[in-house]
Amino acid sequence: MTMTLQKYVDQRIPSQLREAFVEMMGTPTGRRLAESSARRRARYILDPTGKLGWGSMTVNLVRLVLIGRETLQHRPTLINSLAHEASHIEQKYISDSFEQEYTAFVTAAQVMTELGLPDSFGWDAPELQSLSPEQAAQKIMEMFPDHPLYGISPAIPVYQVRGPRGLIELAKQAWALLKAA
Ligand SMILES: [Zn+2]
Repeated sequence: MTMTLQKYVDQRIPSQLREAFVEMMGTPTGRRLAESSARRRARYILDPTGKLGWGSMTVNLVRLVLIGRETLQHRPTLINSLAHEASHIEQKYISDSFEQEYTAFVTAAQVMTELGLPDSFGWDAPELQSLSPEQAAQKIMEMFPDHPLYGISPAIPVYQVRGPRGLIELAKQAWALLKAA
């Protein structure tokens, strides 16, 4: 472990999340994710509202990851959540999309595979590894029908919006989350 990465983990990853983060970092994919989080100085915190439950989310504009408190009860889910959110940080976009969620889901599943653990959402299945953005969107909507961002009436686009237009997308998505809260 490089000095910088060690320092990042000690200073920026809260103690309740640290062991799981380090476990994630022990895999090749998890290591890459941790390094990108360290480079971007991402902050990981436990959800202060308690509303996320088993869910987690990333506010990429301010590089902040909120991890749902329930995930502390189940180590594999916690590692999976950390890897999923770290993938959002790695992808760097300010607004979300199905394309981006798909990458986050399969990247987290890859970390689980490298740990020898099953992916709780089944994203480690071979037939799910090369979906088109449209197919991925369909699959995610079916898996999380009630999700305010990527459920049956999604607030995110299939394709990633890049550049300054991402701010408009971000506003729409934040509004969808606020309405659901
Ligand atoms: Zn996500």
